[in-house]
Amino acid sequence: MSGTASGVRTPGRTWAEIDLGAVRHNVRALEHRAPGARLMAVVKADAYGHGAVPVSRAALEAGADALAVVTAEEGAELRRTEIRVPVLVFTDLLPDRLRLAEEYRLIVTAHSLASARRVAARPGLEAHLKVNTGMNRWGVEPSEVGEARRILGSQLKGVYTHLASADRDEGETRRQISAFDEVLAAHSFGGALVHAANSAGILWHRRSHYDCVRPGVALYGLHPAGDEGRATDEGLRPAMVLKSYVADVRRLEAGDGVSYGLTFRAGSTTFAATVPVGYAEGYRRALSGRAEALIRGERRPLLGRVTMDACVFEVDGSVEVGDEVVLLGGQGDERVTAEELGAWAGTINYEVTTGVNPRRVERSYEDVRGP
Ligand SMILES: *Cc1c(COP(=O)(O)O)cnc(C)c1O
Repeated sequence: MSGTASGVRTPGRTWAEIDLGAVRHNVRALEHRAPGARLMAVVKADAYGHGAVPVSRAALEAGADALAVVTAEEGAELRRTEIRVPVLVFTDLLPDRLRLAEEYRLIVTAHSLASARRVAARPGLEAHLKVNTGMNRWGVEPSEVGEARRILGSQLKGVYTHLASADRDEGETRRQISAFDEVLAAHSFGGALVHAANSAGILWHRRSHYDCVRPGVALYGLHPAGDEGRATDEGLRPAMVLKSYVADVRRLEAGDGVSYGLTFRAGSTTFAATVPVGYAEGYRRALSGRAEALIRGERRPLLGRVTMDACVFEVDGSVEVGDEVVLLGGQGDERVTAEELGAWAGTINYEVTTGVNPRRVERSYEDVRGP
């Protein structure tokens, strides 16, 4: 696992290892948490940076019933493989994208009365109706539900809402669930699939489970509340490890500066390892002077600024060119989490994995069939 004393053993690039065994484990853990509900695996944004097609296959193997994406193109990418399960598109689509959705047999979402009419103009489409219960981003108002249902007629196969603060605000979440319950009580939806829960809803709000749950971030073993919210005892397993290698080691003397702006200066003799990862890879510039990475099983502080293509970590004289560097994930007994990286960069874990640039960082799929 960790860098070995034999020197160069890494592939000489920055790459992401995706543990599909962890994805399968997380699907089963979430299903256990929402017994009786179907599971729609949210694989939007290339599965939060983990790779939509391999992650979808793993999730389906573990028992997921359906998939969800945000654009028609993301849905089409799944359909170009052997994937045949229902795929729901969350956003509102204009007519040219609705045509694509129909071609690839995607389920679309009606977000407004105008959106419902656009869907009704293509009778080959199936749709879910999204109801705004307080997030105020997408969805028809509760007062418009009757009209939307009439417009969609037999195309309507589901009804859902989205929780704005299920990771931290009990009161708001209860209020949203009650508003959704009122909509469900006021109208008959036949056999339409009813759903509301994101990862935080699954873990902390049983009343939000309904017929189907929609986990995203928890599928990838990330904590739905970043590092601020409550603890989870689900034993979710992080699925991404981001690795690079030591490309250069040099010795700095007192007063020598490092990287653009020379914002770090050595106070005494220091060994510095140059690692070919920067903000073009998605290793954010906001990590400058704050992050740590693992080299030879130890945490090493980042010196100075992250540049587009490289950054520098403080090491000791034992570190050699070719040693493995773990920027996210475990090495030996140490682990750098996406939650930590998010906190260092002033963002959330979601953005850490989603931001890893696939044009620069190849994904390799470890199929660890753990318990
Ligand atoms: C992204 C998304 C989800 C998944 O949210 P997580 O917090 O990642 O679990 C569920 N539902 C909708 C509508 C979404 O946009």
